[in-house]
Amino acid sequence: MADTPRSFRVEALVLRHSNFAEADRLLTLFTRERGKMHVVAKGVRKLKSRKAGHLEPFTRVQLQLARGQGMPIIAQAETMEAYSAIRADLDMTARAAYVLEVLDRFTYDEEEHPQLFQLAVETLERLNAGVEAFFANRYFELHALNTLGFRPELFACVSCRQPVQPVDQFFSARRGGVVCPDCALRVEGVRPVSVDTLRFLRHFQRSSFKEACRADPRPAQREEMETLLQYYILTQMESRLNTPGFIRAISEKA
Ligand SMILES: [Zn+2]
Repeated sequence: MADTPRSFRVEALVLRHSNFAEADRLLTLFTRERGKMHVVAKGVRKLKSRKAGHLEPFTRVQLQLARGQGMPIIAQAETMEAYSAIRADLDMTARAAYVLEVLDRFTYDEEEHPQLFQLAVETLERLNAGVEAFFANRYFELHALNTLGFRPELFACVSCRQPVQPVDQFFSARRGGVVCPDCALRVEGVRPVSVDTLRFLRHFQRSSFKEACRADPRPAQREEMETLLQYYILTQMESRLNTPGFIRAISEKA
């Protein structure tokens, strides 16, 4: 498959789909080449359509898209990875759905994010291969935030800019990072974060995935990492997109 004046090729993760017209389906994709985009799959709802199997949410596909007056139309579809182990497990499906939800909600249409695409593919591959979901998802969160320009500041106080000292700290989702104990008295809406949890968050933020997996946080620290990152992500999403319905949906999922 190659690009021509009438068609172009994308590699995509299928984020979601909805029925459209009589036999057609509207797909939301996250593509390596063009970020999020919406395309039409013609005739996939007819029982015998050969294309239908390729176009389920989570699937990674190679698509040839025909340019038209409106949304591009799928001319050819090839499955690259169906992530069948994820599909076979409900808990894993929810964790993978969360990854896709972050892609969907943090990006605008046709805004290129090749690094984020790569990170999402690697995360789905890790989940599918049975890597512990805690590591796969926390790593995804911290590195997706970096890529999207929401990297939380974990090394200096976001208020006084002094380097963080090795004692328990506070965190402000609105200010985007750690607030030292002195400044915490004056900054509204801070949450405590223990020095050990902060150490693990930093480690995940600046390490390769392999290095991140060498860490061994205790259950209480895992819980604190997850809660803090969820809180930060939801706050950033809310201010960026203001979609309260989604915030509820994703809180239930977490
Ligand atoms: Zn401070």
